[in-house]
This record gives sequence, structure tokens and C-alpha cells, in this order.
Amino acid sequence: DIPVITIDGPTASGKGTLTDEVARALGYGVLDSGSLYRVTGLAAHRAGLDLNDGAAVAALVPTLDLRFEEGRVLLDEEDVSNELRQEATGLMASQVGAHPPVRQALHQLQLDFRRLPGLVADGRDMGTAIFPDASLKVFLTASAATRAERRFNQLISKGVPAKLDDLRADLEARDARDKTRSASPLQAAADAIELDNSAHSVEASKDLVLGWWQTKRPF
Ligand code: C5P
Repeated sequence: DIPVITIDGPTASGKGTLTDEVARALGYGVLDSGSLYRVTGLAAHRAGLDLNDGAAVAALVPTLDLRFEEGRVLLDEEDVSNELRQEATGLMASQVGAHPPVRQALHQLQLDFRRLPGLVADGRDMGTAIFPDASLKVFLTASAATRAERRFNQLISKGVPAKLDDLRADLEARDARDKTRSASPLQAAADAIELDNSAHSVEASKDLVLGWWQTKRPF
């Protein structure tokens, strides 16, 4: 059995950073499932598909030429990592992720990320739909203000122009859609540990998760 830790939560809650840190400490691999929804949205958009047409977008998934290399995502051999991080792509991801056939089409691809010695999976439904047997499930939250501020600093540090109010409005809109959609709505797994990291450093959150892992890991 390959050990899996799931870290689910809303947009910009710090999942990606925490996932990377925990994975690095344990020597585990990472699944950034949001990047799969993002690249699917981007590819569908580029192909001129209607993002509301779940069947058409789902049919595109098996034809995608994707490679994942050290945190970079290549689509048709083009490094689209930077484009994937943009808010516009996040909205596309949220649109295509609302369709059950798209989620189904991406299911196996996500399971294939399991490798020894273990996996840390970051997303919305890692603990509920994709890895329901995961040994440790974390549901990470932070206030909307904190999340908007973090996303803002992230973009500014990369030289991407951003407006705090717009970011907050975007992420609240995306959360509302993620929570109310019928396909895999964002919710904590019944056996997930909730962690509100609004007031925690990344280091402190990482230490908490590693501490839980000490007591929960299946070996
Ligand atoms: O985590 P990230 O911001 O990259 O996710 C982008 C969007 O992809 C989310 O807003 C959500 O709609 C969708 N998503 C999803 N299920 C996942 C990961 C992401 O529906 N496991």
C-alpha cells in the first residue's frame, strides 16, 4: 500500500505550499490536482470548446499530451505552467470541474500519481472522491481576507499585476461555485482533520501535519 496524505481546501488556502513542504520533509511525491483541472480548462479553451459542454471537454481529456516535470506542466511539449497560475485559468478550471464526465475522465490520471515512498495530494476532493482510503486527510482553511492577501503577494512577487479587491471577489466566486456544484462539491471528508491556518506560518502548519502523520501513518 502506498501511503497517501490528502490536503483539501478552498482557493488560496495555502494547500500548494503546505503540500510541497510536507512532501519534501517526507521525500514523497506531489499531486497538484488543480493543475489537471487548469490544464484541461486551458486546452479546452484553446481548442475552442464550450466550457459548459461537459461531454465535449471530457472527450478532450484522453487526447491531451501532458507531461509533469518537477512542478512544471507541459501541454503538447509547451511549458504552460505560468499560464496555468493565472486567475483566468483558475476560472476555466472551476468551470470544467463542474461536470461529472470531466471529473471521471481525470480520475485515473490522479490515481496514477501514486508512487513509493508516498504521495501528498492537493485539491478539493482528494480525501472524499479520489483517495477515500488515505491514511491522513487534512482540510485546510483560512479566512477570505487572508487568502486574498496571500494570493496578492504571490502574484506581485512574480511581477504579475494584481488588485486585492478583484482577487478576493474572484476567489469568493470560485469558492461559491466549488461548494455548491453537484459534482464533488468542496467539503471536508468525515474523517479529515480541519486546520485553519490564517494565523499559522507555513512552518507551523507543516509541523502539525507531520505530527499527525507520526500517529496516523500505517507503518
Ligand atoms: O487548486 P486550484 O486553485 O489550482 O484549482 C483550480 C480549480 O480547479 C478549483 O477552483 C476547482 O474548481 C477545480 N478543482 C477541482 N477539484 C480538484 C482540484 C481543483 O474541482 N481536485
